[in-house]
Amino acid sequence: MTTIDASGPLAAPLAPDAPDAPLTPEALDGLARRLHGPVFRPGDAGYDAERSGFQAGYRHRPAVIAGVADADDVAAAVAFARAHRLPVAVQVTGHGLSAATDGGLLISTRRMSQVTVDPATRTARVAAGAVWSQVIEAAAPYGLAPLNGSAPGVGVVSYTLGGGVGVLARTYGFAADHVRAIDLVTADARQVRVTADSDPALFRGLLGGGHGLGVVTGMEFGLMPVARLYGGQLVFGAGQIDDALAAYLRWTETVPDTLTSSLALIVYPDLPQLPAPLRGRHLLQIRIAFTGDAEEGARLVAPLRAVGPVVSDDLREMPYTEAHTIHRDPADPHAYNGDNALLSGVDAAALRQVAALTGPASPVMVVVQLNHLGGALATGPDGGSGAGAGGVGHRDARFLLRVLSPLGADDPEGDLAAARAVHAAALAEVAPWRIGRSVNFLFGEHRDRPDAAEVARSTHAPEAWHHHTALKAAHDPENVFRFHPYDGGRS
Ligand SMILES: Cc1cc2nc3c(=O)[nH]c(=O)nc-3n(C[C@H](O)[C@H](O)[C@H](O)COP(=O)(O)OP(=O)(O)OC[C@H]3O[C@@H](n4cnc5c(N)ncnc54)[C@H](O)[C@@H]3O)c2cc1C
Repeated sequence: MTTIDASGPLAAPLAPDAPDAPLTPEALDGLARRLHGPVFRPGDAGYDAERSGFQAGYRHRPAVIAGVADADDVAAAVAFARAHRLPVAVQVTGHGLSAATDGGLLISTRRMSQVTVDPATRTARVAAGAVWSQVIEAAAPYGLAPLNGSAPGVGVVSYTLGGGVGVLARTYGFAADHVRAIDLVTADARQVRVTADSDPALFRGLLGGGHGLGVVTGMEFGLMPVARLYGGQLVFGAGQIDDALAAYLRWTETVPDTLTSSLALIVYPDLPQLPAPLRGRHLLQIRIAFTGDAEEGARLVAPLRAVGPVVSDDLREMPYTEAHTIHRDPADPHAYNGDNALLSGVDAAALRQVAALTGPASPVMVVVQLNHLGGALATGPDGGSGAGAGGVGHRDARFLLRVLSPLGADDPEGDLAAARAVHAAALAEVAPWRIGRSVNFLFGEHRDRPDAAEVARSTHAPEAWHHHTALKAAHDPENVFRFHPYDGGRS
């Protein structure tokens, strides 16, 4: 791999095959010969599997898919796209798919899945296609843990570019704040290594929603000395929801930064494949991860247990490798739509309204999640100046409220319209506290909305958003990377 330092003089871009070259079968054959990984065209065996991901609501229809095997492949694919005037999309798992590539070039990074851990420096190095479960497994033998989120199948790179609010978020902050180096292929197909020293503005810009600034081929970040947790779920039935919401809000005022938690409100469908205690019920789950000992953890959660009878309580000591059981996110691909609000605060009356709007009377299933933020998320990795390594927006938010609906196969458009109406009504209840949106949970919601630009802007404070758009203009003036979480919303 050829790597240059981004602070050095600009290297000559990889020469395009031929400017504005037509996308002929011969040209595609040439790309296939040049890459170490496979190339898929519409109709090829493997094309459908390669373009599909976790989000089944949108499906890419690219003119060509580059199944890249290494950073040189990524650079060659970007150079090819430039030469043929194709927009470029990137996909790992499809959890964060925001727009279907139509006619462009899709870079599929799933073959670039290398993960290495250096226990001496507590550093992980991942290639573009790594998912969190790999890092968790690689770090655990050394008593270390990454700052992964609730679902172990999510891609490391994109999660981190969007900030990354994880299981240990209040204790250690955003995943983005612990990144040490990023290997990037730029819009002019150069391979650069970006660090806080080599190019501070680009480094910060990448780590807070920088998906449209290039293709990240590798990332190095710090691991935390966490081998075990006290955590799990406390689940309350419908009769306890109002009291549990109020108790949870009071409780978040009292807990230390070593405790990260969220709550979820879900009406489970009455399906035989679900466990009997969940089937057809409106439940409130409180999910907890505490890095202190089990005795102290039990003392801390006592005010929640005092709310009343629980449907289940699996709070326990666990190895960090079991952290995914705290949230139990769905693992199978499906169609979904969601929106979110970062909040400066919230009161129990508003949350009760949200619970009522999204409860059994809602015309569509809505999963509501409220993450307790603050702690190291607000202070940044240096513990006080507020200046983190990453340029994540709205660090001062105290809560993140998310609304998400699965869309059925029978009438996805009808479900989408109904879901959007309930989401808007639910988020209107917290309007007095709303300060913005989280990049990681945009899910393309804004793309075809008239206020798309406003939705994208809401991910950062005005000055930070201005820096962000300036970086995009400087690093990708032709908008080569146009299928990413902000796409359609750039002003
Ligand atoms: C079930 C579920 C649970 C989640 N839990 C959390 C959580 O706990 N905390 C949290 O913060 N987020 C969470 N998320 C959000 C998640 O972090 C984002 O959706 C993220 O974008 C997913 O990344 P991916 O690589 O898996 O998905 P993809 O859909 O493969 O990628 C998403 C986008 O990232 C960009 N991208 C991907 N790879 C690269 C690259 N190498 N270079 C540049 N751009 C790239 C592309 O624009 C792509 O469209 C969750 C999402 C789901 C669906």
